[in-house]
Amino acid sequence: MSAPDGRRPAHDTSDAPPAGSGPGGGASAPDAIGVAVLGSTGSIGRSALKVLARQRERFRVVALTAFDQRERLEAQVAAFHPAFVGMVRGDAPHGWSGGAQCLVEAVTRPDVRIVVNGIVGAAGLEATLAALQAGKRVALANKETLVMAGELVTRTARECGGEIVPVDSEHSAVLQCVTGRAATAVERLILTASGGPFHAWDAERVRHATVAEALNHPTWRMGRKITVDSATLANKALELIEAHFLFGVPYERIEAVVHPQSIIHSFVEFVDGSVLAQLGFPNMELPILYALTHPERLADDGITRFDPLAAGPLTFEPVRTEVFPALGLGMRAGRTGGSAPAVFNAANEVAVAAFLGGRAPFGRIAEVIEAVLEEQVVTDVASVEAVLAADTWARRRAGELLGCS
Ligand code: NAD
Ligand code: MG
Repeated sequence: MSAPDGRRPAHDTSDAPPAGSGPGGGASAPDAIGVAVLGSTGSIGRSALKVLARQRERFRVVALTAFDQRERLEAQVAAFHPAFVGMVRGDAPHGWSGGAQCLVEAVTRPDVRIVVNGIVGAAGLEATLAALQAGKRVALANKETLVMAGELVTRTARECGGEIVPVDSEHSAVLQCVTGRAATAVERLILTASGGPFHAWDAERVRHATVAEALNHPTWRMGRKITVDSATLANKALELIEAHFLFGVPYERIEAVVHPQSIIHSFVEFVDGSVLAQLGFPNMELPILYALTHPERLADDGITRFDPLAAGPLTFEPVRTEVFPALGLGMRAGRTGGSAPAVFNAANEVAVAAFLGGRAPFGRIAEVIEAVLEEQVVTDVASVEAVLAADTWARRRAGELLGCS
């Protein structure tokens, strides 16, 4: 796919089999690091498999899981020969694991050292916690995990020797800028936002945007839920909360700026006023590779090399919170803390599903989030049960407001 100006490739998540991955397409080295890819049939999962197919000297795919999409999963199994395959829903072929527990089975295997969590939504939480409890590295794309249970997830990592390494491009950028520096040297994080397909639209037009318009992201090709989140800017709220928990920076020192070209993936300002940024064409393969190798870097000839002339002018705009209320609501939920981010996330997931299913107009997404946040009684979410209770309540309430239950 091309960006609207046709200058550069957007994130390609085509179904083309990864180079060299077919039968006989190159086995992994015997001492290669075992990787589980959760959500392997999705946008992140497929990008991860492209990276892993090129890096067989260092990594080997030992587990794959998906929700359904059996045929796509079968093609991946034929290409990578993983020891474990899990499919959450549908008839799992003989030898595959079925049901939701296959996620925990996959991540706790002794031959898995790194878990790429490419699951969308709250469904990724249990597997993230189980992987961290088992002391694994989690290359985390599933930002909803950190939003709904940031304290629990980061504490589990600290206490159990697990490690969370972000895949999200903005957080990968921040990590690349801060690695090797003292946390006290960091003054401010500035996350960039493409602004989504509606970044120049007026508020009334945005409220009535169609599903096709919302799914037409200008710079990234991603799964449907995150693409809608990018159009409402709820995605940026989720990312501000994610950044807070990943890097321990207070909310008043984390900002967002619209950068329509998606070339600069984020900025870090240090206490002396110096600012570092990480740049590249928008493609998730690079942050996925970095999450696998951090803090090392590995040569990879499949990554599109940067060209400043092809990138063209880089521009910045303020975020229009009055047109994109979901952003302000999410930021407020982050600052409120406790169960509020989990409630924000759950209400958003339900409202986005209703929008994608044609049961709610675009503008209703933020309205439902706001109504559910207003009604909530904020609680502590120190345990997984408390997180899930807040999540369940918010889902039910959002469903009621949308007339789905
Ligand atoms: P996607 O919809 O393309 O893929 C989701 C994957 O999760 C699929 O493989 C699906 O089978 C699996 N899945 C869905 N529901 C599940 C369930 N209940 N149990 C188990 N597996 C389930 O989504 P995506 O765009 O790849 O996004 C995945 C995550 O990565 C999201 O949290 C998103 O915010 C984040 N992310 C994505 C991108 C991107 O470029 N796509 C960039 C940054 C962050
Ligand atoms: Mg992002």
